[in-house]
Amino acid sequence: MKRIGVLTSGGDAPGMNAAIRGVVRTAFAHKLEVYGIFRGYTGLINDDLKPLTHRSVSNIINRGGTILKTSRCPEFMTKEGQKRAVEILQRNSIDALVVIGGDGSYRGAQILAREWHIPCVGLPGTIDNDLNGTDRTIGSDTAVETALDAIDKIKDTVNSMERIFVVEVMGHHSGYIALKSALAGGAEQVLIPEVKFDIQDICHEITEGYIRGKASWIIVVAEGAIKGMELARQITEITDLETRVVVLGHIQRGGSPTAEDRILGNRLGAAGVELLIKGVSGVAVGVLNDQVHVVDFEEALRPVTFDTKEDLRLIKLLT
Ligand code: ADP
Repeated sequence: MKRIGVLTSGGDAPGMNAAIRGVVRTAFAHKLEVYGIFRGYTGLINDDLKPLTHRSVSNIINRGGTILKTSRCPEFMTKEGQKRAVEILQRNSIDALVVIGGDGSYRGAQILAREWHIPCVGLPGTIDNDLNGTDRTIGSDTAVETALDAIDKIKDTVNSMERIFVVEVMGHHSGYIALKSALAGGAEQVLIPEVKFDIQDICHEITEGYIRGKASWIIVVAEGAIKGMELARQITEITDLETRVVVLGHIQRGGSPTAEDRILGNRLGAAGVELLIKGVSGVAVGVLNDQVHVVDFEEALRPVTFDTKEDLRLIKLLT
């Protein structure tokens, strides 16, 4: 193996740059060449790639986003698109690929490895922490910190003005950001896609609290559980109390990665390249109990069962 390619794909996540740096510098340490592929699978299909140097990844460890850019690429989901991607890899003499992204990106990498015999490893780059075989994904820690920072600020005004605030955070299918930021932020309630909820019960608690003199509430909601605007509308309708909404949106994807996400990116970037050198392919690299952990893509893509019970219990207990 002489030359590897690296791409970031799907939703961007803080720490992807640290992972790219980990890949590039490790490859150089092992005398390999590295090509950066731009905009994920789109760049692969359109021959949008260039050689990276040691300097290409200087001063990026602290930056959010991804220097390689990212995209969603429907064309890559077709056989013709994949065939074209494989031709581009061969034309550029790229022997193996590191794919940094979420579950969709892993599905693409799995197909490249299994059906097209391209040596491929995946690194978990997604703020949602929704991949199996790893305790954390690159970007999830930063996203929780960003949501928490917003909740802390909202809390100041909530307590001064005595209001109900709904804070909508990202997570179509995953309640990770909502749950962790709600617990760390001392929110009164959290609603996540994984757990059923009853708006009547929530409103009952709010009304009971109001009678006892508790007028300030923060409810953190993952976008996939119910939209913040809709939740606020229903709460106001049922309780007759004014309810404000903050939708955090894309700020959760940006920002300088936390130390944890940078270290994770560096570590998994290095591990990914070292696995390719050993001839391992079709796998996702993660960390379990602070040890690098390798699972095949199929295992990584199994539905994630993360324990929500203890966090939910604590939020209720400590309110
Ligand atoms: P993420 O990787 O963040 O989950 P997406 O789900 O949008 O983001 O996936 C990123 C890209 O991965 C898609 O735009 C597509 O090019 C590729 N991809 C996703 N699912 C598949 C699939 N089943 N087969 C082939 N490629 C896929």
